[in-house]
Parts: sequence; C-alpha cells; structure tokens
Amino acid sequence: MSFKKRISLLSAAVALCYGTAQAAETGAQPWMNARLDAGERAGLAVAQMTLDEKLKLVYGYLGADMDNKKTKRPEEAHKQSAGFIYGVPRLGIPHLRETDAGLGVASQGGPDARAGTALPSGLNTAATWDLKTAYEGGAMIGAEARGYGFNVLLAGGVNLMRDPRNGRNFEYAGEDPLLAGKIVGAQIKGIQSNRVVSTLKHFALNDQETNRTTLNVKIGDQAARMSDLLALQIAREEGNPGAVMCSYNRLNGVYACENTYLLNEVLKKDWGFKGWVMSDWGAVHSTVPAANAGLDQQSGMPFDLADYFGPPLKEAVLNGWVPQARLDDMVRRILHAMFEHGVIDHPVAPAVQSIDFKANAAVSMKDAQEGMVLLKNDAKLLPLDKSVKRVAVIGGYADRGVMAGGGSSLVYPAGGNAAPELTPKTWPGPVMIYPSSPLKAIQARLPGVTVVYNDGKDAAAAAKLARDSDVVVVFATQWTGEGFDMPNLSLPDKQDELIAAVAAANAKTVVVLETGGPVTMPWLPKVSSVLEAWYPGTSGGEAIAGVLFGEVNPSGHLPATFPAAESQLPRPALDGYPEVADRRFDVNYHEGAAVGYKWFDLKGLTPLFPFGHGLSYTDFALSDLSAGVKDGVLSASFTVKNVGKVAGKEVAQVYVAPVGARWEAPKRLVGFHKAEVAPGGAVKATISVDPRLLAMYDSASKTWKVAKGDYKVILAADAADKRAVSQVIKLEAAVYDVNGKPLRASKR
Ligand code: BGC
Repeated sequence: MSFKKRISLLSAAVALCYGTAQAAETGAQPWMNARLDAGERAGLAVAQMTLDEKLKLVYGYLGADMDNKKTKRPEEAHKQSAGFIYGVPRLGIPHLRETDAGLGVASQGGPDARAGTALPSGLNTAATWDLKTAYEGGAMIGAEARGYGFNVLLAGGVNLMRDPRNGRNFEYAGEDPLLAGKIVGAQIKGIQSNRVVSTLKHFALNDQETNRTTLNVKIGDQAARMSDLLALQIAREEGNPGAVMCSYNRLNGVYACENTYLLNEVLKKDWGFKGWVMSDWGAVHSTVPAANAGLDQQSGMPFDLADYFGPPLKEAVLNGWVPQARLDDMVRRILHAMFEHGVIDHPVAPAVQSIDFKANAAVSMKDAQEGMVLLKNDAKLLPLDKSVKRVAVIGGYADRGVMAGGGSSLVYPAGGNAAPELTPKTWPGPVMIYPSSPLKAIQARLPGVTVVYNDGKDAAAAAKLARDSDVVVVFATQWTGEGFDMPNLSLPDKQDELIAAVAAANAKTVVVLETGGPVTMPWLPKVSSVLEAWYPGTSGGEAIAGVLFGEVNPSGHLPATFPAAESQLPRPALDGYPEVADRRFDVNYHEGAAVGYKWFDLKGLTPLFPFGHGLSYTDFALSDLSAGVKDGVLSASFTVKNVGKVAGKEVAQVYVAPVGARWEAPKRLVGFHKAEVAPGGAVKATISVDPRLLAMYDSASKTWKVAKGDYKVILAADAADKRAVSQVIKLEAAVYDVNGKPLRASKR
C-alpha cells in the first residue's frame, strides 16, 4: 500500500471515529453538529420547534423598563439594554440579547447604564478611509459587547448623507456609497469576529430625522440602487451581517418594514441575503402585510402600537393569511445567522467578563487620530510650537471633556458625564461630555507655559484673553442626535460670533470643531487653522492634543462635502422642519443618485471644503497614474510621494468621469488607498474598480450596464483637486448582474 493511500485510509478512520463521537454528542440534537452548514442546521432545528416556540423567536422586547408605557423588561434581559428575544433552551438555542452598537456598547440610559468604550463618531471612522481601523473598532465593540453578555449588535449604520443637517449623520459614514459601504462593512466584519451578530441598518433611505416615522421618501429604483442601496449592498458584501434592520420611514408610499420591494425583492431575492430582517424600534405597522413583505422579527415591544408579531401573527398563521412556510422561513433565517456567526456554538457568558478598558481606549484613540481632518493650516500654526509663553484655550467644555452625539447609540463613559448640567437630560439626551479634557492634555504637553481657559460664554472676555496670548485654541461644539435635525449649518449658541471675536483679537487662532457633521464657517478667512475632530470618543481630549502638537500627523479626509451655504443643497429647506408630530409628507429625492460631491459637480457649485479634503503636516505628490483594463476589470496604479519633512499618510483617491456616456453626475469615486509614506519616500499602489461604479443600473433587466466609450480616470487628493492627474481610457460595453458579477460582453 502506498504511503499516500495509507494516510488517506488512516484519516478516513479518524474521521469515522470523530464522526461517531460527534454524532453521539449531537445525536439527539443533530443541528448542534458544527460540521453541518448553517442552512442545514437551521432547517433541522426548525423542524423540531412547536408553533409557540417559533413565535417566540420572531418577537422582540425592549430590554429596559418603559415608565411612560408602564412596561417592564423581561427579567432575563440585561438591564437598560436595547432588546431581548427568548430563545429555545430545550433545543440549545440561546436568548438573543441586543445592544446598540455602532460607536460602542450603548445603554438605554437611566441609573443602570453600563460604562463602555466609545469610538469616535462613524463619520470620523469614515474619515480615516482606512478599513483596518474600521475593522479594529468593530472588533473592539464586539469584544466589549460579548464581555457584557450581548450576542446581537445593532450596528452597521450606513444611511447616506443626503442632508448635512440630518441629526444622525454622526452615526453613519458619509455621502459616498463606496467609501461608506466599505468602511461600515469592515466594522461589521470586526464586530462579528467575536462570534456575535451585527445588523446592517437602517434599510432604507431613512436620511433625515424630522418626522422619520411618518415621512414618505420618493425615489426611483435606478437612483436608489445607485446610491443608498448601493452603500448597503457594498456593506453587506464586505461585512456579511447576520441581520438587517428595516427603517422607520415610508418609501414610495410603503413603510420600509412592510415594503416587499425593499425586503423580499432587493434584499432577499436580488442580493441573496440569508439572515433575518428585524424592525427598528417602533417601525412595524401591521401583521400580515409586514410578515408577507419580508419582515422576520418585530423588535423592541412596547415601541410599536400593537404586538403585531405576537398573538395576531399566531392567528394569521393558523388561518393561512401568513403561510406556515413563511413563519418557518422567518425562524430559519434567525437560526441561520445564529449558527453561521457562532452565537449558538459559542454562547455568551451569563456573567459580565473582564473587559480591558485601557486597551479599548487605545483603539478608540487611534481611530480618532486617524480620522481627524485638518481643514486649514495656512500659516502652518499647527503643529503647535512648544516654546510659546501664553496659550489661551477657549470654549467647547474643553476644560472638562469632549462632546458625544445623542440617541440610542450613546455610550455611557466610566467616570460619568463631565457636564451633567447640560440639557436635555433625557431622550434624545443626555447631552454628553466624555471626561477626556483637551485642556488638561494640552497643559500636560506644555510644562512651564501659562495655559489659561475661558469658557467662551462672554465673547468680549474671551477676546481679551486671546489678545494677551501667543496662540489661541478655540473649541466649538455642535450637539446632534437621533430624533432631530439641525435647523441650519451654523454652529449653535453664538459660537460663530465667539470665534470671530477671538480671531479678530489674535490671528494665531486654531479652531477645533467637535461637530456631528458639516458646518459653515463665516470666520474661516480670519483664523489660521481648523481641525475637524468630529465626536472624538472616549480618549478624545488626548487624541486632539496629540494631533495639535504633531505627535500624530493628521491624515483624515472628509467623507462628506462641507457646503458653503444651505442654498447649495438639493433641498435648501429641510422638508418638514421644524417637526410637527405625526405629520405625513413626501421627501422627494429629486437629486436621485447625485448625492454629495456628485450634486456639487453636477450643479457646478463650489463648496466650503470638498469631499475627500484633508491636510497633513507634510506634503504629498500623486503621480505615475497608469490605468488599464485586464480581463474586463479596470485598475489604476500610481505613486504617492512624501515631498515634505515628516512622515505622514495620504489618501489617494481615484475618480472616473465618463467622456461620452452620461451618468447621474460628472464623476464618481471608484477607489482609494491610504498610504503611509516616510519623508522623501514613495509608495506605489494599485486599486481595481467595482464595475457597478462604471455602470448605470438598468431596472428593467436588473443589470448594471457599462457603456462603450472613453472615460477619464482621475487621481486626486480630493473631489475638487486642481492638481489632479488623469488619463483617458476606453471601456467596452459590458453587462453585470444585479450584484455586479459579469454576465457577458456586448457591442453597442
Ligand atoms: C434606532 C435604532 C436602534 C434602536 C434600538 C432606534 O431608535 O433607530 O438605530 O438600534 O432604536 O435602540
């Protein structure tokens, strides 16, 4: 017998023994055999379940008491948690314990809020343009959630920034479907590396908060598939989330959680999603329509008006209004995700595990520093010179900490709110200042220097301090949050006046912005430097100081356009603002897929700062662009040179503009690469292009069609880069399926 044959016989024998042992272990419960695939296991388990057990799995509770509705959380739910669903212990199926998620382990507030590590805002993570950072942030959140005993994270927010006034922009990843989809997908992957499930949300087109539960978004299939849905599609492909959360709004007349187009057609049929659809908290409006349209689980009761997926669903199934097979499908989908992502094979521990908060704070700090965007540094006032004598630090609660966004994503910090007096104190508050003081971090770096703080409430007093100082760092905050939008793009509370007064007194002024998203800056010409620090998270004060002093070279680039004025937006006035409860109205996304910089390009508008913009303490040159098509795939290679004096990171961006063909806008981002380059050094990189980004979506055939012709490939440092280099290439006509897979090449 040959050696090879003997080895294979031996391994067959081993496999047989192992198989028997496994079968003995799982004999009574074959779905517990981890060597079967998730679909098979789910099918075996569903076959064992009674009707009532199935119904339990599709019905979710809020994991906190709700005083105004006089309801209590299920006893088994973790306190102040977002959600809880009963498992089927007799079959080895654990309870689902859900927590928000996108920026860290959040709490529903109240006295039992758990302390967690907050990442910087989602926009900050998107501004890193770095998938590794996004993944590591997700992995940190997932680990912390597992440590706290949660197995489902309500993360993965990727609603496109169609309006910079949307109160929840800070949770999301900006205006571009490629960047947002990739970043959020990487975060989901990181979360799920902990054998927990992450959602992808909010499905779909919930892009403003004003009347979010009643408004009706109007947009066509083609435009939706090339914008918001594309971001979700890319994030799903990249992250493979176990669950998707349908949103509050209506889309073309139908609530998202009972929208068969969104759930059955786009998500499940076209994209082949195998996990489950859960509703947002209070987004269900029916039993039979919702179940038959593809909703698999009602969440967060008592948020909805009725327990639609409770007794009414049982009645509907018993009467055949919702087919038994449909209920089985709902349950199979939930179990599929639980099996696939390890929730059943690696159950979370019942008691809180030890969590390494120090290590997690470092993850948050790295994310913050990688995503802060140096918007302006004309006089090279940054990095700050340590030989100064007097420094003024003004405003923004900088003596106490850094701002966080409000709503369900709010992570409660160890040490408590550094500004507990701020209002509102209840939903969507509390207004939270994380106890990581930029002032203290600045002082620590300037021994022997006089650093004086002024709270900025009295602009004249602040200006006087500025006049008497060598350099001024003024902090401005904008509190945004879930459930409300901004009235406009101005900084609130007369901070524009404060900054103008300070800058008039001392031109050596650095402005540090802690905002939910884009703001206007009427004082911009008067100040030396502006650093957009977003909501910088748990370690925000340290992170900001590290960048101000050049310990870290800023490398964030804008994931969204900063408009010069509201008049430049597709909707100069935000529909429905200010909110009147229960008002029903249309939001017409007439701009279609021309979102953000695409809209600005299309209309020839000059923004305050373009998409992709971000400065560094060094200078870069982009060169050697070489684009070509091989095996039907467009790729572009190029060189990033550091022509300055310190090490740094540049985000090289590749855009494509059709020469003959017409897209929704003049150009699209098709690829990017963040390169770390030593002074005097050069890095070569190649990106390849997803064909969907070169195509128009065709609704009738459900395909992506690339038109034959010339296309300009542009290598740039931002969407309006005057030094961009370009090359014209030829593309053949080609057709791709709904998921961007090649179908055939065709001549036109
Ligand atoms: C939000 C979701 C969140 C849920 C649970 C809702 O208000 O829209 O994003 O996951 O609450 O807290």
